[in-house]
Amino acid sequence: MSKSESLYAQAKELIPGGVNSPVRAFTGVGGVPLFIERADGAYLYDADGKAYIDYVGSWGPMVLGHNHPAIREAVLEAVSRGLSFGAPTEMEVKMAELVTTLVPSMDMVRMVNSGTEATMSAIRLARGFTGRDKIIKFEGCYHGHADHLLVKAGSGALTLGQPNSPGVPADFAKHTLTCTYNDIESVLQAFKQYPDDIACIIVEPVAGNMNCIPPQPEFLPGLRELCDQYGALLIIDEVMTGFRVALAGAQDYYGVTPDLTCLGKIIGGGMPVGAFGGRRDVMEALAPTGPVYQAGTLSGNPVAMAAGFACLNEISQPGIYPQLTELTDNLASGLLDAAQKEDIPLVVNHVGGMFGIFFTDQETVTCYQDVTRCDVERFKQFFHLMLEEGVYFAPSAFEAGFMSLAHSQEDIQKTIDAARRCFVKMKK
Ligand code: PLP
Repeated sequence: MSKSESLYAQAKELIPGGVNSPVRAFTGVGGVPLFIERADGAYLYDADGKAYIDYVGSWGPMVLGHNHPAIREAVLEAVSRGLSFGAPTEMEVKMAELVTTLVPSMDMVRMVNSGTEATMSAIRLARGFTGRDKIIKFEGCYHGHADHLLVKAGSGALTLGQPNSPGVPADFAKHTLTCTYNDIESVLQAFKQYPDDIACIIVEPVAGNMNCIPPQPEFLPGLRELCDQYGALLIIDEVMTGFRVALAGAQDYYGVTPDLTCLGKIIGGGMPVGAFGGRRDVMEALAPTGPVYQAGTLSGNPVAMAAGFACLNEISQPGIYPQLTELTDNLASGLLDAAQKEDIPLVVNHVGGMFGIFFTDQETVTCYQDVTRCDVERFKQFFHLMLEEGVYFAPSAFEAGFMSLAHSQEDIQKTIDAARRCFVKMKK
């Protein structure tokens, strides 16, 4: 029995499913999850000592690669001065200044401890600011696990939302309208049905929780227009795309200005951090300046801020995003080429430092319905064959992959060569 297998058996007795977040349990691909002992650069090392080229990057934060010296040193220095004060620090001011400079649509920002807290708080703020209850989200987008966001579409496109987890009251879910990603008409219909009731739209600017689906050119500008027309706020959830698709996020890449932005993952450099911010008049509605309540014992934690600040400083250096994009482009084109040589139908979507692999005959994959038509069994087979080859992709056909600046061209070539060997086996 491997060490991962024995730890998993033990963990399942003590932790539901053996994991502290469901996708880690490999339920999407079957088999035993790897227990990780350490990570460095582009590599993960499991409890049995095997090395893997890592394209999960802790689900996004590790854009600089693992164990980056600048972040490690900043954390050690902060730790030496104390772990938490529950009072303001200079680092919080420096961090707020840096974030609002890097993302110009954010006049003000508030730090929280996760992406879930960021989206949950931004939506409460949008509701408080507009005095409206309903929100629009998109099928296949994930914004964390707050009750009103764990909602799927009703049976018809414009029926009220239904909970997609027990424990979410239908009375909450009914305020969430679920529209179709990349389909502006579905959003127009929602506004026509509830012209005075919609507080905000929340959207992933590149959908990364149904694998990787970039927006069609008219989609994000269309959302901006409809929000302006109907007096709703546009919340761009950049928890995944922020500092990954471009330095100023996908909103800069696609040229759309939101009222509020949610951040997470990279902003903490690997520590538990989230943030939300945007228009000054909206942000000033937050307590203590305004009536909308939001708080956190550990928010703006000095160690987490030190890690995030060091990470953002590193990625602000010139040339970083062209480099990250080139690495991702090379992986995408290499995988496509290898698949073509072995007659395996494959679509690879990619933007900046994120990508998605789809086993499908479809020419393009642009919405949730397209994603559900892909061959999940083939993905599972590919995932396990690649794991044997020492390459760690996300253990689910519905999750995006992440490139880091620590990946070398050699790592990418090794990945492509491994994929070609796997495609050969998959044909048999
Ligand atoms: N929003 C998006 C777009 C995400 O991808 C995620 C997590 O993957 C979240 C919000 C929730 O963030 P967290 O897991 O830090 O609560």
